[in-house]
Amino acid sequence: MGQRSSAEHRDLSALAPELSQSLLDWWEIHGRKDPALKPWMFTKDGRWPEPHEHLNVLECWIAEVMLQQTQLSVVLPYWQRWMKTFPSVEALASASLEQVRLQWQGLGYYSRARRIHEAARQLVQRPWPGDLDGWMALPGIGRTTAGGILSSALNAPAPILDGNVKRVLARLYAHERPLSRDQHVFWGWSETLLDRSRPRDFNQALMDLGATVCTPRRPDCAQCPWWESCAAYASGDPSNWPVVEERKPLPFQVIGIGVVINAAGEVLIDQRLEEGLLGGMWEFPGGKQESGEAIEACIAREFMEELGILISVEKELITVEHAYSHKKLRFVVHLCSLISGEPQPIASQQVRWVRLDQLKDYPFPAANARMIEALLQR
Ligand code: SF4
Repeated sequence: MGQRSSAEHRDLSALAPELSQSLLDWWEIHGRKDPALKPWMFTKDGRWPEPHEHLNVLECWIAEVMLQQTQLSVVLPYWQRWMKTFPSVEALASASLEQVRLQWQGLGYYSRARRIHEAARQLVQRPWPGDLDGWMALPGIGRTTAGGILSSALNAPAPILDGNVKRVLARLYAHERPLSRDQHVFWGWSETLLDRSRPRDFNQALMDLGATVCTPRRPDCAQCPWWESCAAYASGDPSNWPVVEERKPLPFQVIGIGVVINAAGEVLIDQRLEEGLLGGMWEFPGGKQESGEAIEACIAREFMEELGILISVEKELITVEHAYSHKKLRFVVHLCSLISGEPQPIASQQVRWVRLDQLKDYPFPAANARMIEALLQR
């Protein structure tokens, strides 16, 4: 393999047809064309679709939204269960938000479930969009999701820019700035390279290249159809791309949580406000520990401020650590009992006393699963 300087590789638009063809040739042999892996990408008789064939748009839409922040292997069982529960947009639109959230439980980034539900309610009342702008006007659908739906389902010439694609392009062009700063530049490249006669195949090929050859840590350039044109390869160490922002350590917080149990053996849960992180999910009440505050005092204070009740904080049930993308939390969970007052949803949508065997009917964030398990084993 020869070496070229990165300066020679800055403008690849003249080479786009050649690059596109070599990628498609590679994908014909090495692409991930397994119906068990991505069933929504196949015809009902299990074939990869011909360019003129359309796929089920609902199936592609749900898969694309699930894949926004989540890996393919995690998404697959969720997608299968979802399509069984909501096989049509009418079934999805007529379900309650609670039912929809239960099917999403465990996938994270829960506002995605609410937005799919909102979009389904819009789509039962009007024709489905056929272009990028129409899809992007729906809740929860950005440009790459819209491009994914249109190219996958309808073979429409819409580019995509997911994490895999950004990494491949950052290396191909040896782009010297972090991805997040130059989104428009990356979109331009994805669009330039797109094969307009086979957009579905091209987008899949680009994602497959990123997932199997141009991997984050050790790109296997010897297997890559683009090595001759790749500026990162020419540099000698392609893993230096993409250029990353310097990471600040994640902020850390301790959260005091109270599991209040009444005389009937029911526990008190509340539903988070719709907006914000984990909007609409249910949880055991609690809140942030203040500086210098004992955890028992924190829990008692939170219950007074957010539910208007006086509780006694008793022994610890469990401590759970959980990392989100932007912060790390330690939940210190104590068993509690009610001293006085009627719980009010001062900082939540609603509060409810529920039996332990009913907890499974409420969507809880992932961090709560271990608290519930500890409670049930008690
Ligand atoms: S040559 Fe290497 S770094 Fe460049 S796109 Fe291919 S796998 Fe990625």
